[in-house]
Amino acid sequence: MVEKFKLFINGQWMETGETLEVINKYTQDTYAVVSKAGGQEVEKAVASAEFAFKKNPLSPYKRYQILKRVSELLLEKKEELAQVIMNEAGKPIKQARTEVERAAQTFEVASEEAKRISGEGVPVEAAPGSENRMAFTIKVPVGVVGAISPFNFPLNLVAHKVAPAIAAGNAVVLKPASATPVTALKLAQIFQEAELPDGLFNVVVGSGSTVGEQLMKDSRISLYTFTGSAKIGLKLKQTTGLNKLILELGNNSPVIVDKHADVELAANNIAQKGFAYAGQVCISVQRVYVHEEVKEAFQEKLVQAIKDLKVGDPSDPDTDVGPMIAEEEAERAEHWVKEAVDDGGEVIVGGKRNGPVFQPTIVSNVHKNMKVVCEEIFAPVVSLITYNDLEECIEEVNESPYGLQGGIFTRDLDTAFYAARKVEVGGLMINDSSQYRVDLMPYGGVKDSGSGKEGPKYSIQEMTEERLVVLNLNQ
Ligand code: NAP
Repeated sequence: MVEKFKLFINGQWMETGETLEVINKYTQDTYAVVSKAGGQEVEKAVASAEFAFKKNPLSPYKRYQILKRVSELLLEKKEELAQVIMNEAGKPIKQARTEVERAAQTFEVASEEAKRISGEGVPVEAAPGSENRMAFTIKVPVGVVGAISPFNFPLNLVAHKVAPAIAAGNAVVLKPASATPVTALKLAQIFQEAELPDGLFNVVVGSGSTVGEQLMKDSRISLYTFTGSAKIGLKLKQTTGLNKLILELGNNSPVIVDKHADVELAANNIAQKGFAYAGQVCISVQRVYVHEEVKEAFQEKLVQAIKDLKVGDPSDPDTDVGPMIAEEEAERAEHWVKEAVDDGGEVIVGGKRNGPVFQPTIVSNVHKNMKVVCEEIFAPVVSLITYNDLEECIEEVNESPYGLQGGIFTRDLDTAFYAARKVEVGGLMINDSSQYRVDLMPYGGVKDSGSGKEGPKYSIQEMTEERLVVLNLNQ
């Protein structure tokens, strides 16, 4: 049965004349039908958010209670939500369940942070002529937050925007990805059950070029928080002028397997983390730089570990790699791999496509100008590059325009710390791959991977303004 969903604006469910069809990404059947927002609905959502922010502010303790309740409800509804994610995003069910657990964590951490938002004392009395003054800062919410989210973590990346925004005392208008809007609407139902006052969270569904662009141009929005491609991130930056902006963008994550590495650990880790959710994770392993002394042993173990991955139906509890978000995306990945092969690359495992499912693939004999290496592939494809000098290897790693997260496998402390100082990324994982994230940590990239950090504590810093208060005392 195809379920129908409405927009969530000012605490009400709104049906519109136009609908968006959401397909099951594995079977390609229609899974749900969602009302699409037009200009009027977007206008109403922003006006409701502005009104709620000004007229119904929540105390920090109330924010804590509501966000904590959302976290509990997410766990109570874990299976229902995981099924939605599996259907609309095509995410293997075991990874979908993990996403729900992580979203519950994100809300729990944000609820705790809601009680810890504070400014600091400023010793203005230390300046000559200011002996009779005292000063401190307070943190105030920015107002209306415009959130635009991608398809690949339809719950937890929405959580990373909405939970800290509410924790900081803001109101939110969310535009989820058109491929995966149902999870966000389910979250709205949970907020309603947790008794969030009307207007503090609104969900408007529709394309980036209509709903997204309208939101970008709305001067009542004080801060935009965007996760998605660098191309749209740049557009947002150019359009939103002087507004505050958090940008979480793309990457082509590097992982170095040094001559001192535990190659078995590295191979098993990369097999899991290069291919989870069909490589459609912004920190998926994409470029593996392996020292020539350990290349053979590492490659043998990696190929074996990849052959052990279960590929196919995301509803199967054992599946590791399911479909990509759309068949055209799988075709794109196939084309990039073919281009690499035509240019001298060698597919040592995988390379085949069946509809939207692309087999986990390793390409070797690549060079740095091939798309599989220098662009973000966002598919289950890892390139193997051999090196023998670490300094040169890191220089090549840093030639990427991206810099979100990276990894290095080494048992040598000097090598690990050298890499920590030299690799240009927002986060470097030692003896782990690029794809490590827990939800309380600061998370965000450098260069074209974006600016500003996520992780509730860090987002709250971005989503509040620091206001200075100075007292001029008589004595
Ligand atoms: P995307 O195509 O950039 O879309 C992201 C969001 O932007 C969607 O909601 C999309 O709406 C919207 N959008 C599209 N055009 C727009 C416009 N002109 N104005 C305003 N909004 C617009 O990215 P995606 O394919 O969903 O996600 C994959 C990308 O996200 C990858 O590059 C990945 O690395 C990145 N990502 C980064 C992080 C991180 O934390 N750094 C995390 C996850 C993903 P529609 O869906 O309606 O097009």
